[in-house]
Amino acid sequence: MDITNVNIEEIVKQVLAGMTGQAPAQAGAPAPASSGQIPKTARVAVLTEKEKFEIREYPIPPVGDDDILVKVEGCGVCGTDAHEFKRDPFGLIPVALGHEGTGEIVAMGKNVKTDTAGKPVKIGDKIVTCMIFKDDPEITMFDLNKKNVGGADVYGLLPDDDVHLNGWFADYIFIRGGNFGSTFFNVSDLDLDSRVLIEPCAVLVHAVERAKSTGILRFNSRVAVQGCGPIGLICIAVLRTMGIQNICAVDGNEKRLEFAKKMGADMTVNFKDFQGIEALAGGVKDAFGGHLADFAFQCTGNPVAHANIYKFIRNGGGLCELGFFINGGDATINPHFDICSKEITTVGSWVYTLRDYATTFDFLRRAKGIGLPMSDLITDRYRLEDINEALRTNLAMTGLKIAVFN
Ligand SMILES: [Zn+2]
Repeated sequence: MDITNVNIEEIVKQVLAGMTGQAPAQAGAPAPASSGQIPKTARVAVLTEKEKFEIREYPIPPVGDDDILVKVEGCGVCGTDAHEFKRDPFGLIPVALGHEGTGEIVAMGKNVKTDTAGKPVKIGDKIVTCMIFKDDPEITMFDLNKKNVGGADVYGLLPDDDVHLNGWFADYIFIRGGNFGSTFFNVSDLDLDSRVLIEPCAVLVHAVERAKSTGILRFNSRVAVQGCGPIGLICIAVLRTMGIQNICAVDGNEKRLEFAKKMGADMTVNFKDFQGIEALAGGVKDAFGGHLADFAFQCTGNPVAHANIYKFIRNGGGLCELGFFINGGDATINPHFDICSKEITTVGSWVYTLRDYATTFDFLRRAKGIGLPMSDLITDRYRLEDINEALRTNLAMTGLKIAVFN
């Protein structure tokens, strides 16, 4: 029998493939680079009906020249996930949710050389995806909503298709190359908790950028932050990393106010200690040593809180409203006393741009560098198989950030 070199190579390849459980690579076509230990299937948490995830097992698709396969390490639970879990407002069921995820590249096509920011990527690098696609770095979720949610591009909100590995609540996620518009970033220099916190932090980096656009928020400004949920707490952290010292946190929960101090607030005001808005504004003024705030961030979804915050701000001061992420109802203010005669400059802030997303990596490095306890924001940690419980905890609003870790 005449056995050529090619035949022997082919036989050896098949034997090796049988040992590792992988299909043999096509002769002539280079196999995608991989770290070796890739199983044939992956578990994916699929929302199959309202308030019910099922863990399904799907085959891992072949990685094309422009694609990336990522082994998931963790993913934060977002308010958007909670809405979809409870009501399916985007009509996506069945859907693989999870967009605040991060993991390690285990295989990638030969054309993948750099991330969306131009930073080189290789097997073993840690990456995150971004909701915003790459054709316009200034585009925000607001535009994206009109074009895309429930359409394409947003990992964790993609309609189910034959790829299936479309969300971060899974063992593996498949990042599509080519015209799909995926945006992803190499964040290997950030620890796992920081990577899971990127998305909520980007919301605050954007809000502070909006606030800076007024020209009122400066290095030595007195800043009031109302609401010490995750958004308010991260707001304080972003301000602190910018070098702002005079931060007064306002909330009705003493535990959250204690946390606000750890995140960089110098002063705290518990609104439950005051009767009426005039007394509360007096409390904020006292906290600043007899001055009202130069700038205020409104981080609650409460209409009364929105109406109150103008009273904390000095004449000529500024306000950033970011608490009404969804429609929380109407607020009553007096336009003469609250805005006009005080000449208040207000900005609204919603979601973030692709640029803010990349800036957030630097924020997280800096926050760690100055010792802010960012990891403590993740109060509840679940395994993938307990995803239903993770979502229920998020809806119960007993913790701060809920996350799933593999
Ligand atoms: Zn989110």
